[in-house]
Amino acid sequence: MTGEILCVGTELLLGDILNTNAAFLARQLAELGIGVYHQTVVGDNAGRLGGAVALALSRSDLLVMTGGLGPTYDDITKETAAAALGKKLVWNQQAYDRMAAYFARTGRVMSENNRKQAYVPEGAVVFQNENGTAPGMAMQAKGKLVILLPGPPNEMEPMFQDQVRPYLQGRTGQTFYSRTVHLFGIGESAAEQQLRDWMEAGTNPTIAPYAKTGEVLLRVTAAATDEEQAKKLLAPAVQKIQGRLGDYIYGVDVVSLQNAVVRAFRQQGLTLSTAESCTGGGVARRITEISGASAVLRAGICTYTNEMKRKLLGVRAATLSQYGAVSAQTALEMARGARTQTGADVGVSTTGVAGPEPSEGKPVGLVYVAVSSPWGEWVKELHLARGSGAERDRIRHLAENHALYAALQAAKRKEEESTQGEKEEDAQNV
Ligand code: AMP
Ligand code: MG
Repeated sequence: MTGEILCVGTELLLGDILNTNAAFLARQLAELGIGVYHQTVVGDNAGRLGGAVALALSRSDLLVMTGGLGPTYDDITKETAAAALGKKLVWNQQAYDRMAAYFARTGRVMSENNRKQAYVPEGAVVFQNENGTAPGMAMQAKGKLVILLPGPPNEMEPMFQDQVRPYLQGRTGQTFYSRTVHLFGIGESAAEQQLRDWMEAGTNPTIAPYAKTGEVLLRVTAAATDEEQAKKLLAPAVQKIQGRLGDYIYGVDVVSLQNAVVRAFRQQGLTLSTAESCTGGGVARRITEISGASAVLRAGICTYTNEMKRKLLGVRAATLSQYGAVSAQTALEMARGARTQTGADVGVSTTGVAGPEPSEGKPVGLVYVAVSSPWGEWVKELHLARGSGAERDRIRHLAENHALYAALQAAKRKEEESTQGEKEEDAQNV
């Protein structure tokens, strides 16, 4: 099935609103195995919208539209799409009742023009809107399927997930399941290189790499008739990736580095404290994004001056004067301080030059990330600048990534040590 996305709204054309609906729908349709070859944006103009609908129907099996389903005179999506398919609009009592209930629930008064939203094209399937007034709908004619969805993402996204997705799944006859392999410490093209033969073969499952700042995700997708079949296809594929890129994989379906950190620390019953300089608390902030972080993070200490590095973390004055604030030695003492001052199992630290000006005669992008843990202490020297000028945010973000990854490695060492211990115990018990 080929599909396309048509977003309606003059505000999108003007750049006032970012077209997040298109990105969301594109991902969703891809997951459903529907090939999307065109995306269009048109303003709230009947003539141009009519033209765009006609063009889409001339080349695609499925057209998904968002926006312009509201009660006002410039909301013309439904009328235009229905006309293109030769459908009359008919009163839908259920849609009206739902809307009335929504207004009652939210304590607002329904205005006369809201009635317009209760008209749907004849024979259409109606998707109820749990978060707003405009229902979504699907209609069919001339071998084409047109789906209309409300513009506000908080209404459109749950409607798609809960109602439209199962509806489309029933029509494609195939189910798609994906797993995401998260890589750290390798670039997108290097990762792709390792998998090129497989990606070019384009078999089932397929692999799609995505680059995030400083991270690479590989989405592995299997198409099958049911979930069990899909899982059977996915497992060996993920294993094959582990075989080729195992050194760089920090998790499968872990969402993000901070998620992986919180998950691993909780699993191992560990606590963490951070001592941050150039990242200004960013590592701690990212950990606290995750629910369950309170069982993991003891303290996030942001020490920007040498004085505070000494007072709060116990970094030695001699270390600071001999090596400077941006040094492997200071980073290590910061991590150690974070750990010992707070009683956490693991301390991680960042110190570096985020720029744009060099500091202590050290270049922009030089960052040290250190870890202190019962399973060892280590420090990593990073050169994160690309020399493009405005990269302060990027350097800070990458430094945070490395600190999170370092924390993850500490948890991994603990895990390895305890499985090693178990093996030794087992050997003794024989
Ligand atoms: P509408 O349904 O056209 O009245 O749109 C209502 C609101 O939904 C707009 O003012 C935007 O804030 C939002 N919206 C509409 N289309 C999109 C889109 N493609 N992406 C993100 N937000 C949108
Ligand atoms: Mg609009």
